[in-house]
Amino acid sequence: REVKGFSTTAALEEPITPPVRVNYTQLLIDGKFVDSASGKTFPTLDPRTGEVLANVAEGDAEDVNRAVAAARKAFDEGPWPKMTAYERSRVLLRFADLLDKHTADLAALETWNNGKPYEQALKIELPTVSRLFRYYAGWADKIHGLTVPADGPYHVQTLHEPIGVAGQIVPWNFPLLMFAWKVGPALATGNTIVLKSAEQTPLTALYAAQLLHEAGLPPGVLNIVSGYGPTAGAALASHMDVDKIAFTGSTETGKIIQELAAKSNLKPVTLELGGKSPFIVCEDANIDRAVELAHFALFFNQGQCCAAGSRTFVHESVYDEFVEKAKARAQRRKVGDPFQKGIEQGPQIDSEQFEKILRYIKSGIESDATLECGGDRFGSKGYYIQPTVFSNVKDDMLIAQDEIFGPVQTILKFKEVDEVIQRANATRYGLASGVFTKNLDTANTLTRGLRAGTIWVNCFDVFDAAIPFGGYKMSGIGREKGIYSLHNYLQVKAVVTALENPAWL
Ligand code: NAD
Repeated sequence: REVKGFSTTAALEEPITPPVRVNYTQLLIDGKFVDSASGKTFPTLDPRTGEVLANVAEGDAEDVNRAVAAARKAFDEGPWPKMTAYERSRVLLRFADLLDKHTADLAALETWNNGKPYEQALKIELPTVSRLFRYYAGWADKIHGLTVPADGPYHVQTLHEPIGVAGQIVPWNFPLLMFAWKVGPALATGNTIVLKSAEQTPLTALYAAQLLHEAGLPPGVLNIVSGYGPTAGAALASHMDVDKIAFTGSTETGKIIQELAAKSNLKPVTLELGGKSPFIVCEDANIDRAVELAHFALFFNQGQCCAAGSRTFVHESVYDEFVEKAKARAQRRKVGDPFQKGIEQGPQIDSEQFEKILRYIKSGIESDATLECGGDRFGSKGYYIQPTVFSNVKDDMLIAQDEIFGPVQTILKFKEVDEVIQRANATRYGLASGVFTKNLDTANTLTRGLRAGTIWVNCFDVFDAAIPFGGYKMSGIGREKGIYSLHNYLQVKAVVTALENPAWL
């Protein structure tokens, strides 16, 4: 082995032994690892084989009740919301240092449980996670209200206070990164948390939460309940003592979350949902770069990205060249055991997603799109899928409308800028867009015309901590990251004090 965790001689039939052990499988409530109240566990799988990786405590409504009670107590009695913001910031900074120290193990566990290439987890995702906690540590002691002018003899100030107990429900595609996007701003603003991880990937949230406690987080401030959506997740979203709910996942589940929140205590909701993001290649674009970035925009993380550039619109004048090169690039994509060095694509997360993607591929073939390459499973074990490219895709085909969430690129042809704006916007989603052109006027027309929360121009998937992320339309409500996310976890209190003897009267 050249680098810890990598092997250069892997076959899919003999998965590489991951360079890490599973240390934490219980729920984390009030600073302690505990079994679920029911004593039940559920299996979490290795997507390379579909075999059981570990059995994890299965939380349900009763465990959510226990976790919310711990979070409530930690909020009402402190010390977390009551300690100085500087002290909170120092806990987050110490945590970021511990994340860096444990990067190799956390990345290996993420790969083992999720199937993403170890190199990607190690070099891209883990550094992004610790960077994000340092970013929010920086905000912790810079949050303050305003002094506000009044028409009468009043002194008016606003206090920006933590909202209370935050419920957070995260998906399986970027388990630690989604943990960071949710937990970072909530802790920086002095809230306490109950987080439900995705049932497919419960392991790294437990590990990271343990590190947060080692960094000095008081008990009860962050509670982790592993378990299923309709049981643990629904109990959290509908809990009367949860003051706010934040969710990332599918649009269908997002609707359920909002309904549960409304029907219980009308808690505010932020939602990061699905997408069908256009990636638009204009006639003047640098074709080789556009091919490479369009490939990255779709295939990154096995195509399991909410922001994936999943409708590649290419100008008719460069269309044929683009399709040839996109096909060649997909055929070169290195698929294999994610612990093997140089691998770009591992298995999909589970059998459900695997089957769903194969059904979409079948539908693409049946709807007369041209299958340029791929189109089937890769190997005979686990959930690997061949990098697949369709050309001659039409707007009304299912593969151009639904979120496939897999390694399936769909290429569409366009002629005019106005036309592509209209077609790109003709979806219920509005999460992100990519624009590839050297012409400033064209770029401006597209960035103003596209209805999406993020527009990347001549780049894609730039996810710095300070850049807000979220969706228009049915891609979500609210923004995460950056300064915008702080407001998801703050209440504004106006304090109006009558002035008995104003100096100027
Ligand atoms: P999902 O929305 O069902 O799951 C996301 C999270 O919500 C998980 O933690 C899950 O346990 C929880 N959940 C599910 N049902 C719930 C309920 N009734 N109440 C409360 N919580 C609930 O997503 P999925 O089934 O894992 O994936 C399905 C599709 O969602 C994918 O194919 C993809 O299109 C999309 N997806 C999007 C993202 C994203 O980042 N936007 C992430 C994962 C999946």
